[in-house]
Amino acid sequence: MPEKIGIIGLGLIGGSLAKAFNKAGIKVCGYDKSIDSISSAVECGIFEVLTDDMDEFLDFNPDLIYIAVPVNAGIEVLQELGHKNVRTLITDACSTKATICYEAGKLGLNFCGGHPIAGKEVSGFANSEAELLKGALHILTDGDEASVEILKKLHEKIGMKVKVMKAEYHDEIFGVVSHFPHLISFALMELILKKDKNLLEYTGGGFKDFTRIAASDPVMWSDIFTDNSEHISNVIDEYIDILNDWKQQINKKEKPVLMKKIRHVSSARQCLY
Ligand code: NAD
Repeated sequence: MPEKIGIIGLGLIGGSLAKAFNKAGIKVCGYDKSIDSISSAVECGIFEVLTDDMDEFLDFNPDLIYIAVPVNAGIEVLQELGHKNVRTLITDACSTKATICYEAGKLGLNFCGGHPIAGKEVSGFANSEAELLKGALHILTDGDEASVEILKKLHEKIGMKVKVMKAEYHDEIFGVVSHFPHLISFALMELILKKDKNLLEYTGGGFKDFTRIAASDPVMWSDIFTDNSEHISNVIDEYIDILNDWKQQINKKEKPVLMKKIRHVSSARQCLY
């Protein structure tokens, strides 16, 4: 079990992980390239070291390095750690897994991919909280047996439930259940803004629920969409087929068919939470 964890990226997820590890009695240090993020993290007083200098961060000698930055920045960070010949176990929190695991393998790093299935539409350390991760699922991908065992125990210690899978399979699944829902939420907002932004005045609870995630961070989500483009693109095609089917039934005023379709999905959704 790691005793000192070094977190790279002190935003919503890095901050929440740091607070949860600190609460579990594990020492944490933090590195971020943004002085604003560091200033925000200083106030909570949980970090042994907080710096924008990678060498100072590595001098803390963490026995686990946890990367919690957007995926493209994550790859740059991995390259920097590779150049510095870091042998420490490294994991990450990025929402896509195949590219980052592949890059880590190419660099010969001791890496196991990770993705906490917890989050919110707001970013930054100020919005982080230890409780965000409690009870949530954590996915581990493509690590060796020993790394998976260490990371499994660590995440269970902070109240998470762990599942292990291949990075490519992770990206296929999360392309459907997470990336695509964000895309259609952004697209719905785009539709309204294109028609007439004054229409927003008439929106109610349904619209609010559906578009909560459209308030998410542009860097994070453009990274996710471009990194997982193939899987997301396949889901878009399937969804267009489904929408066309609904359109046809609506145009034909096929009420019994529409009722059957709605009953089918509505009961599945009602049983879900
Ligand atoms: P965030 O915007 O809240 O924080 C990112 C932090 O990383 C910022 O403080 C930023 O300054 C820092 N950063 C960016 N590039 C850096 C670099 N090159 N070196 C050092 N620091 C750098 O983002 P977040 O919501 O915490 O997301 C972090 C990662 O976690 C992303 O990869 C995201 O896909 C993943 N994730 C997010 C959520 C969510 O709901 N927000 C959920 C699960 C996983």
